[in-house]
Amino acid sequence: MGDFSGTEPLVGEIVGLRTFRIDDCGLLLPLYSDGAWYDGTNTAVCAPPTGHHPRGPHAVPADDCECGFYAYGSAVAAAQNRHTRYVQAVVSCWGGVVAGTRGVRAEHARIDAIWISPAAPDWLRKRVAVRYPSARLYADEAAMLGEHPLTELDCYRTSVRRRLGPYLGAALIGALILALGLLPFEILHASLALWATWVLATAATALTTVWLLLGSHGAGHLAAAFVVAGVLAWLLAPVFGLGGWLLRVPLLRGLLVAAGGYLLGLRPHHFPVVKTAHERAFCGVRP
Ligand SMILES: [Zn+2]
Repeated sequence: MGDFSGTEPLVGEIVGLRTFRIDDCGLLLPLYSDGAWYDGTNTAVCAPPTGHHPRGPHAVPADDCECGFYAYGSAVAAAQNRHTRYVQAVVSCWGGVVAGTRGVRAEHARIDAIWISPAAPDWLRKRVAVRYPSARLYADEAAMLGEHPLTELDCYRTSVRRRLGPYLGAALIGALILALGLLPFEILHASLALWATWVLATAATALTTVWLLLGSHGAGHLAAAFVVAGVLAWLLAPVFGLGGWLLRVPLLRGLLVAAGGYLLGLRPHHFPVVKTAHERAFCGVRP
């Protein structure tokens, strides 16, 4: 069973918890798309970020696709998403619903209650209230969950442990790639083990870049191709001696931007407000 798939609960409305970004018009946006949720009923369509439909048109949500509105099944599961320290919303889900160990995906969803961190500016809070008149705004998370209890499904795993394995593995590979790309060429070439690792890592990175470019189905793949191309340039840097530092610039720049964004988020009274998309300029009515 997956995090958000595996079973189809046979109950009516299922109440879950999720987080949103908020734009400067007070609209609630998912973390990974600009498709705003509106007051009242929202209906999901299958539009994966990669634009790739694994099995053609189908009912939303489907077990073998990632579409549908997501909601965590418990406050513990939701807390693993760092963005929940800014915004949490209780949502009712109905229609087609599939559930997994951490939450549900649904065809229809409605925002019932919204908690916004005290760090959010007052004007933003007011705009959210105007945008979502049928949702109740809370200043206290516990009060919101007390008045809007989440549905408890049997398939939810009661203890949600952080799975460290994948993160550690990725960190290890990242550190290895950074180290290989920093070694002088003579040292790389002198040891058979180092040389074999470098050749394999470089070939795998090059193949991944090509695969991402050729198999590209949309913005997500292209962005990933750029990142992997940066890693490839980093790995090739030792071949060019001092000039190799030019090849290290893209990845260094990316790392600096990521670190800067992370540090910015750690400021005590920080609340991220998304800049309004161009089409919604002046916070006009629903497009
Ligand atoms: Zn789908």
